[in-house]
Amino acid sequence: MANGFEYRGFMLDVSRHYMPMRDIKKLIDAAQICGMNRMHWHLTDDQGWRIEIKKYPRLTGIGSHRGQSYFGVFSDTENNDGFYTQKEIREIVAYAKEHGIEIIPEIEMPGHASAMLAAYPQFGCRRVVHGRTDSRIKDNPYNYQVEVSVGIYPDLICGGKDESIRFFEDILDEVMTLFPYPVIHIGGDEAIKLHWRRCPDCQARMEKLGIQTEEELQRWMVLEVGEYLASKGRKTMVWCDVLAGGPLPDHFIVQQWMGASEATRAHLASGGKIIISDTAGYYLDYPFGRIDVHDIWQYPRIPAYAEGYESGVLGLECPLWTEYVTDLKRASFQLFPRMAAVALKASEPESMDWPAFRGLIAAKQKEIEALGLTGAPESLWELTPEQKKENLADWERLTRTPSIMPYIHFENRLMLLEHTERFMEEIGIPKAFAERAGDRIMASLYHGHIVTEDDGAGEMVHQLMEAVRNRRDGVWTMFPENVWLDTMKCFTRFVQEHRQCYGYDGYDRGFWTPRQVQAKLFRLGELEYEMLPDKEGNPRIFLHIPSDANLMPDPLNESVRLAREFFASYFPEYADAPMFCETWLLSPKLHELLPETAKIFHFQSGFELYGTHPDSKAAILWVFHKTAIQQKTLDLNELDESTTLQRSMKALLLSGGAPGSADGQLVRPFS
Ligand SMILES: [Zn+2]
Repeated sequence: MANGFEYRGFMLDVSRHYMPMRDIKKLIDAAQICGMNRMHWHLTDDQGWRIEIKKYPRLTGIGSHRGQSYFGVFSDTENNDGFYTQKEIREIVAYAKEHGIEIIPEIEMPGHASAMLAAYPQFGCRRVVHGRTDSRIKDNPYNYQVEVSVGIYPDLICGGKDESIRFFEDILDEVMTLFPYPVIHIGGDEAIKLHWRRCPDCQARMEKLGIQTEEELQRWMVLEVGEYLASKGRKTMVWCDVLAGGPLPDHFIVQQWMGASEATRAHLASGGKIIISDTAGYYLDYPFGRIDVHDIWQYPRIPAYAEGYESGVLGLECPLWTEYVTDLKRASFQLFPRMAAVALKASEPESMDWPAFRGLIAAKQKEIEALGLTGAPESLWELTPEQKKENLADWERLTRTPSIMPYIHFENRLMLLEHTERFMEEIGIPKAFAERAGDRIMASLYHGHIVTEDDGAGEMVHQLMEAVRNRRDGVWTMFPENVWLDTMKCFTRFVQEHRQCYGYDGYDRGFWTPRQVQAKLFRLGELEYEMLPDKEGNPRIFLHIPSDANLMPDPLNESVRLAREFFASYFPEYADAPMFCETWLLSPKLHELLPETAKIFHFQSGFELYGTHPDSKAAILWVFHKTAIQQKTLDLNELDESTTLQRSMKALLLSGGAPGSADGQLVRPFS
């Protein structure tokens, strides 16, 4: 018969809300009853630093205070401040030991570090705005503060400065004197690397190490610290996010919570150990509408990513994050009896039927309540779908953060921004441009504290963030990777050219860009294709000509073939839709301007024209980048003459002619 897991743990976050000593002891009493043997003590985070470090007194002097906070209806002033002296920590460690519970301390890095950096901003990143250090932000580069609301913040310990790593190791030196057990947790989750991307120290380190991404820099930093801990005879535990930078040696314990489970599987495959804390099964700060006792019973003890590697699973751990847990009463409601259910699952490898499981849990709950703690009533242990829905609606109401807190509304956008900045590099947009754009978005998060001039980049990033979101969970999910990349490359080129033509004001005209972003217009080979039904709703396709299109017959015909295939697969009603185009490139007038060998005429060869607009000045816009407004006061003599087309078109304009444009339908192969 198989054994239970050696690791049966719960996590207590005391950063978001401080918990008095006597209350922690009560929870330890109850955890013992549940059958737990590990307490993961989450001592530091953006919203508070709770452990005394003698070498750095400001960590608690500044980092343990935040005053009024904003966590939905749990926005009181209770338990927002406070920390544990080293003497108190020893007392808790000893108390837990008497109860058969080993404590794993967590000191977070490089992210979730706002409280730490509010105390010691010099260990954060250096900030350079447009090539110079901004004097307003020199002392506190990113306006670090102990955060007062829920959220994920981009404040990271600098990965480039040796002194930042020494600082962290100094802290761990004291931590190791307090916790005698082998495992130390150093966090690693949710580190948004927007600052690292912009930090000259971090970038210099990456160059020196020859690594390409900030994820790899995080992994490098974790390895440095992990090696340091190993040299002191300790093991390092990290959240699974760290694996995004590459695999870790097998002496690292990975705590799986969400995402990236393939990387976790690879860690197992190479002999590494993991702790399972899946959000879907074990997050006890979640409402019962998401995870009730029955759900815990039902959750696969070995999730799919760990199948076949059971011996690498050290055990289960249920975290209690405390944004919405202000006191012992609330903690007890969230924890019990769900903690008992997790412990039972961890200790009993054989599946048990639900009535037996429930019976054991009910007995544990009785014992826990005898301690004076009140757990969740039995009515919440096994909810119907309707009851779950109601419970979740209640939860929504309780946790709604007041709109005066900007971060909560931008948290998702920050993560999306990071993702988008990386994507922009992937499609060849210069990093400096992407960052200036991102700066503008971040500036809004910092209450305008850092404002950089906008060169139009901001609008593009807004659009691309929407596109990236759509690629992840919106309309773009269904299309192939190459169509996505080509369309977005074309989109960004278009937007940049559009800006060249219109200047800042015309940049974000909503009627242009969302077509690509919302997957209504696709680049397929040389051309772009847009679905645009006529007034009666009949399917029609409009052709757009990207500025880099090769207008020779073979690539054009190939593009049309690709388009027919694409629409047949994804939009069958458009498979045979007529294709139209309206452009100055179809203007018959061009035959007077250009030599017969001009590539443009190959494009014209496919079309039957049904309307010409001899007076159209569209060509002036696209050939000379002059807007309609500029054209009103245009001195024709000053027009550019860099290309054949420009020279002949300028001559035409000076003689009083206009290049014109035309509408046409594609009726034959290009020749
Ligand atoms: Zn840095």
